[in-house]
Amino acid sequence: MTTDPTPCDLLVTADLIMTLDAAGRIVKHGAIAVTDRTIVDIGPAEELRARWTPAKTIDGKGRIAMAGLVNVHNHTPLMITRGMIEDIGFAPMYTPGIPQGHWLDADDAYALSALGHYELLRAGCTTVMDFYRYPSSCARAAAELGVRAVIAGRVHDAEPGSLADGKHSYSTAIGQASLKENAELIATWNGHDNGRIRCDWAPHAPDTCSDDLLREVKKLADAHGGNVHTHLSQLPAEIEAVKARTGLTPPQLMDKLGLLNDRLIAAHCIHMDRADIELCGKSKMTVAHAPIGNAKGGRIAPIMELMEAGAHIALCTDTFSGDMIEAMRWAISMQRINRQGNVLDPRTVLDWGTQAGANALGLGEQVGSLEVGKRADIVLLDNRSPSLAPMVDGYGVLVHSASGHDVDTVIVDGRVVLAGGKLTLADGDAIVANAQAVAGKLWQRAGREAIG
Ligand SMILES: [Zn+2]
Repeated sequence: MTTDPTPCDLLVTADLIMTLDAAGRIVKHGAIAVTDRTIVDIGPAEELRARWTPAKTIDGKGRIAMAGLVNVHNHTPLMITRGMIEDIGFAPMYTPGIPQGHWLDADDAYALSALGHYELLRAGCTTVMDFYRYPSSCARAAAELGVRAVIAGRVHDAEPGSLADGKHSYSTAIGQASLKENAELIATWNGHDNGRIRCDWAPHAPDTCSDDLLREVKKLADAHGGNVHTHLSQLPAEIEAVKARTGLTPPQLMDKLGLLNDRLIAAHCIHMDRADIELCGKSKMTVAHAPIGNAKGGRIAPIMELMEAGAHIALCTDTFSGDMIEAMRWAISMQRINRQGNVLDPRTVLDWGTQAGANALGLGEQVGSLEVGKRADIVLLDNRSPSLAPMVDGYGVLVHSASGHDVDTVIVDGRVVLAGGKLTLADGDAIVANAQAVAGKLWQRAGREAIG
């Protein structure tokens, strides 16, 4: 007995489907059926064509389908410093001679955020955690371009101007303003578009937040129920400032204040001694590993040690690139340099860039792999790209050889947001031109004429 095919919204076919599920299922000549933003079937295309009558079909001949990439730490408005900060300093907030965050207005932040989200989508990133000043501008850009995002404001009470001069002075007014900005963000954007945009709390770092402010953030984040995002052990200056203020290392301070736990996603974790590593590992926190920025700053984070101690590892670009495939390649290469050996494997770092990131963001049941019941966040790569040949086990060539430029189509929540490398919901050329205009204005204020 045969049953009539069932209607579905979308059928995506592909030469190869790399589901990135726990079993590592790969389907040749496969298809994915999507209804109501959700994957309802995955299998051989011939079988799915018999089972489903789609309203729309994406013919993925010459394409490889894989789960969308997940970037767990980014600051899209900091696109303003990209291509310059690498040669001037390390962390923009601590670096003089560059456009400062407090020079931006909401429109500048929106223009730069749109550029950041465009670049991420263009390179196959479907989920990003993004936090900075004017977080509502970041949320608006993410919502408009169609990316899945967790957004937060940059909470701190250290005076940004003094940080760039190597000093830490704290202002209650600055702290309260940043708390208010984040509370407004949550009230307006949390849960937007059926949960595609979610909001969290992000105290900038243990040195740029006083103990009182960190306590306040903990209370607010506990009531809110999401993750806490921060920078941890990023710079010697941070560690010195925290030690001078509290007598503790940054992880010890976060632990004392009840913030070092499995809800913390902490970027960098570079300058840690054995005791810090053990403490972070025991807490089951997630390290947002930023290998591209670390490498450009001449730093290697003890990622293997943190992983072996029990910490979760996920990947991020931290605005130094929009290309999560590049981040995976840097991650594996840097740890091999650090350990002077062939440690890690492509499947592990691919997991850091997908499912582990989704798990860290509390989205592990929704995204991170292509499985029935999950949201349809699908990336189609060009199977005719010379960078993707030869395809043997699939994982090695993806991590060691592919790049974001091999991405052709991106689907988020069952909606095509990038097709043939072009945004479908916004004008990519206008986004680049607007961001360049903002950069020209702000770099001029910093004393440099932009040539673009
Ligand atoms: Zn960061």
